[in-house]
Amino acid sequence: MHKLLPALILLGTTLHATAQTGKQLKNADIIIRHTNVITMQDSLPLTDRLVCISKNRITYIGPDKQNAELQTSAQIIDANGGYLMPGMAEMHVHLPPPEEQKKFFTLSLMGGVTTVRSMRGKPQHLDLRKPQGYPIPHMYLGAPIITRFTPLDEKSADSIMHAYSTAGYDFIKVLDIKDSVSFITLMKYARRYKLPVCGHMLYNLSLECLLNNGYSTIEHMGGYVDAAKEGQAYLNNILALTKVNHIYQCPTEDWYSVYNQQVDETALKQRAGLQYIHDTIKAQWDKNIADTRAKMGDSALTAMREKYAQIHRTKIDIIGQMSVINIMLLIGADGGEDYMVPGFTMIDEMNIFKEAGLNNYHILQCATVNAAKYMKQDKDWGTVETGKQANLVLLAANPLEDLHAVTQVEGVFIDNKYLSQKELEASLNP
Ligand SMILES: [Zn+2]
Repeated sequence: MHKLLPALILLGTTLHATAQTGKQLKNADIIIRHTNVITMQDSLPLTDRLVCISKNRITYIGPDKQNAELQTSAQIIDANGGYLMPGMAEMHVHLPPPEEQKKFFTLSLMGGVTTVRSMRGKPQHLDLRKPQGYPIPHMYLGAPIITRFTPLDEKSADSIMHAYSTAGYDFIKVLDIKDSVSFITLMKYARRYKLPVCGHMLYNLSLECLLNNGYSTIEHMGGYVDAAKEGQAYLNNILALTKVNHIYQCPTEDWYSVYNQQVDETALKQRAGLQYIHDTIKAQWDKNIADTRAKMGDSALTAMREKYAQIHRTKIDIIGQMSVINIMLLIGADGGEDYMVPGFTMIDEMNIFKEAGLNNYHILQCATVNAAKYMKQDKDWGTVETGKQANLVLLAANPLEDLHAVTQVEGVFIDNKYLSQKELEASLNP
């Protein structure tokens, strides 16, 4: 009798699973067949899966059965052995002016990005909450930035935070700040209105004051390079404070590399996504770079490169140290520079993380689950699991083996729709 029990339980489970599958298949809006799944729950892909999506939720993930006919009215996407992973989050974007937004969002989706965090809010960004008539990534919208000129006495801080919260912004970004009293007051009222605060290193505060008062991310690694100059013991102390306060880091180091002429011309012209940029724009970028370099002259250019190369190496070293002690890293491109194609810049920042010693799985976590955790939405997205939002990207190859696969997007799943790369590309140049 005892020996029979496990078999009975197993049989019961199988029958139950079959009945469930039938229901999920029947109710699915989209069914993805023959896909490998990188769940981001661990680093082992599931092979040859069938994934059901219903009402923008993942409702089923199970083994696919070769040639099985499906009784369903769902849209079927044959992934043909492609790799399905969570859509990526670009965590430091600057939204372009309205006339360039469609192109920006379309390219972001083509680069596998289904969530963006907008770092410099404008009132018109709130309109992006409404349907735009074309697909856009999910938006995490920063309020208009706080600067050292923003009045932050008790009354002003209260009314500004109240206004931003009521307007519907998701968080506050600080560019710089008048003094520590203003900072503490800002943090007090931001907390009251449940607005996370993040931003630049604030140089007129002590690092300790910044790190101990609830800042949620630090952009560009400002301050850490200076801390490293004080010696490893001091840096360790700052890194420990960063970790204990759960402050995420968004280095945006690729932007600094491009801006500080660290990337040579050949490499710049081979960056991912450039095939989707119009020739006239690329010609303008080529001219800009030639002009800048001619204006600087060889010796000034070399001096600038060498000076920044040292900072770059320090930053890479610190990113490595951060990852070793599990400080949470995010991927952001900061956008706006020539040759940086929205969405496709993810790979360039990822390569910098790789140089810092992170493995491919860890880097993909920075682009997916870390962002969801940062937004406290990891119960809802960031992994491929039943019940989660179906914001997904289908890649032609396995990014765990070669990160560059993140640029080989076959299509994205967002808002209960599948958008193939071809469709998205066609909508770029209607
Ligand atoms: Zn920025």
